[in-house]
Amino acid sequence: MNPSVDEAFIRRAIALADLNAVKVALYQHTGDEALEQLPMALEMTDEQRASLIDAATAWLVDNAGPGMPAEPPPEQLRRLMDLATNETVSDLDYAARRELPAFTDFPLMATWDGDKTELPEGFRVAIVGSGLSGLAMATQLQQLGIPYDVFDKRPDAGGVWSINRYPGLRVDTASITYEFSFEKDYRWTGYYSDGDEVRRYLNHIVEKYGIKPRSHYEHTLRTAEWDESAAEWLLTFDTPDGPVEHSASVLVNAVGAFANPSFGDFDGQDEFRGRIVHPSRWPDDVTLAGKRIAVIGNGSTGVQLVKPLAAEASNLTVFSRTPQWMTPRQKYGEPIEPEVRWLLDNFPGYWNWWRYMAIAALFKTHDLVAPDPEWQAGGGIWSKANDDLRAMLTDYIVEQTGGDEELAALLTPDHAPFSRRLVVDNGWYAALREDHVRLVTEPIERFTADGIVTSDGEAHEFDLIVTATGFHVGTYLAPATYTGRDGVDIHDVWEEDGPRAYLSMLAPDFPNMFMVYGPNSQPLSGGTGLPQWFVLWSSYIAKCIIGMLRAGASTIEVTHEAHTRYNEALDREAANLLLLDETHGAPDKNYYVNKQGRLQVNAPWYGPEFHRLCSFVDWDDIELGGTG
Ligand code: NAP
Repeated sequence: MNPSVDEAFIRRAIALADLNAVKVALYQHTGDEALEQLPMALEMTDEQRASLIDAATAWLVDNAGPGMPAEPPPEQLRRLMDLATNETVSDLDYAARRELPAFTDFPLMATWDGDKTELPEGFRVAIVGSGLSGLAMATQLQQLGIPYDVFDKRPDAGGVWSINRYPGLRVDTASITYEFSFEKDYRWTGYYSDGDEVRRYLNHIVEKYGIKPRSHYEHTLRTAEWDESAAEWLLTFDTPDGPVEHSASVLVNAVGAFANPSFGDFDGQDEFRGRIVHPSRWPDDVTLAGKRIAVIGNGSTGVQLVKPLAAEASNLTVFSRTPQWMTPRQKYGEPIEPEVRWLLDNFPGYWNWWRYMAIAALFKTHDLVAPDPEWQAGGGIWSKANDDLRAMLTDYIVEQTGGDEELAALLTPDHAPFSRRLVVDNGWYAALREDHVRLVTEPIERFTADGIVTSDGEAHEFDLIVTATGFHVGTYLAPATYTGRDGVDIHDVWEEDGPRAYLSMLAPDFPNMFMVYGPNSQPLSGGTGLPQWFVLWSSYIAKCIIGMLRAGASTIEVTHEAHTRYNEALDREAANLLLLDETHGAPDKNYYVNKQGRLQVNAPWYGPEFHRLCSFVDWDDIELGGTG
């Protein structure tokens, strides 16, 4: 034990820690049967809690020190997982969760599994986008020793985290779930890191994993054209020095879904004499102090903005078109205590199991979106899990509105929670109760020279209008043009029905082209671990590339038949879910459902099933060409 740390310090550290993770990490070291009898932390009696803290403190007094345990053999790992969530984990769930504790160096990543195949001369992969998904792909290729270039329109890496600079920007899932499993124990300073810290983290990844020298910044993709005879993609980029061309054997689009802001397009917008700002275009020179400010929108962005803007504005008006379900987060905005930092550094296995438990919070979210007919027949609204959550969040609104029933009614959605992503309450409700903050739910009629007129005829005067009105999420890959085999344009293909892909990654007639975080990719369950999914999809793409190279082929693509079959199954699966339910789902003005009425962003599958589908290449669905 470090002499500067005494037993009382360790005891405090354990008391502040995630006790479920403490229990599993301790059991991994000791195999103490008494730990097997403990319930989940929330259900522990004071006595049980105290005995766990005693046992962990005693063990650490003797054994504390740096390091990470080796990955336990499968049987033991499974036992530890059972213990973590006090259940018997099914085979399907086990397969999807196995690498979440991240004991190995590069969890989930594809390997050559034998000798590396000699690459054809000039073989290169182009990755467009250097946000989290592009960086996952780059790290995967780096591990395999496959040459690649990363292109990004921004002057640095980070994607949305490079673009967004608005006040209040912060991850709304715990930092420990918002990191790559191959970068062990990054020293986050906050439980929910702010934009600057996430940017620093992503720059750290770029430097440490050798991605920077292969990155071309200020390169905006304009056109991507498949050249059948050369079996490669011809890419044209706009750069500060004019158009630049590159060719690539394989093209991976990691351009994200939030590249194209939606500015709201309000009537009279040009007449407004003050300033209009979209959060994703936050200017350095905007002054807030003493200003009359409007915030339009109460998605995650609009909500994050209100508290910091209200702190400076002379008055602030929130325009909310549809109420949102919001949830508080424990320790949101708080620094990681020195005691917990010490624990992460000196309790081998704690990082792994804390990470696992933080992700475990969403293991059961499918129960929130899948209907339960039996529950409904007994008078329930959607499912027990969903109705319970609704009751909890309704109570939270009542509590936050401090007895103001009219305000509570305005803020309570008609739709069921989880028909959209829950919004994190960073003090939004509390800000609404401040004297100089006002909520307006009357629809916006138009902008005027002085502000906004609502449909009841009231004129609201502002100096600054913040349009937190979201993004054109349905326009995947836009505004670049992509021309595949026989001159097929991807945007024409997607025009009628909205963007579609096989496993969210491949589209027929677009050989050697992949998408990370493509159409219908975002898992409905298991969603907190998005960086984990970026690695899984990158690994799938790498397996495709390895298979193509091993076969001596020069092209790889999904068959039309497999793409159609997959999408028909996807539509059938989606049809049952809350998001498309006309009665209980959210009004269809949101991006989860596209203008054709289809599920657009999410994968409808139970998360572990989608994980299974993306964890191997079904070669019956894939066509290799140019082998001879
Ligand atoms: P969003 O979720 O699409 O929300 C847009 C908001 O603007 C909604 O309240 C919408 O109202 C409103 N709106 C749009 N057009 C309007 C109009 N013409 N008139 C009045 N209101 C209008 O966009 P977002 O908040 O920017 O979030 C985008 C994505 O980024 C989400 O997935 C979000 O979770 C994510 N995000 C994550 C973080 C993080 O910390 N990790 C932070 C911010 C954002 P309706 O509901 O009526 O359509």
